[in-house]
Amino acid sequence: MSEALRPAAFLDRDGVINVDHGYTYKPEDLVFIDGAPDAIRRLNEAGYLVVVVTNQSGVARGYYSEADVARFHEHMLAELAEAGARIDAVYSCPYHPKGVVAEYRVDHPDRKPKPGMILRAARELPIDIARSFLIGDKSSDIAAATAANISGHRFTGGDLDDFVAGVLLQADAPIRAK
Ligand SMILES: [Mg+2]
Repeated sequence: MSEALRPAAFLDRDGVINVDHGYTYKPEDLVFIDGAPDAIRRLNEAGYLVVVVTNQSGVARGYYSEADVARFHEHMLAELAEAGARIDAVYSCPYHPKGVVAEYRVDHPDRKPKPGMILRAARELPIDIARSFLIGDKSSDIAAATAANISGHRFTGGDLDDFVAGVLLQADAPIRAK
């Protein structure tokens, strides 16, 4: 095998990595959840691929564009890189069945609680899905994890690094990065 499979930590974005101000999309509105950069660095060092899976129905609702979402993520990844933390991939779902923008008014399999983004990442990246997990702040995140047959951990606030440390203790022997 040319590339060893690694477990993935799927992270919801709003309310897990950044403070959820409600349809946050402006780079200047990025405020990290306490401990988020440390948590992501901890996952990097434990050998996990870190994959963001985020519903961004603000696109379907006409609040902002996919380019705005991409710009926000570019800024977020740059800020994390400054802190020595790496996100390996970002999957974003712009659809909503009741959107006002016609091209995004779709009941799409990517939109959590459906597992589309997780399943797609598992196909596109060298992920060992059986050893992967998700962290999210909503029941729809946990439902997506369950539908993808991975464990889901509900983060309800506090320090994300402390939370991730606890999750890693529960996880099946973390793999060290080579
Ligand atoms: Mg969230």
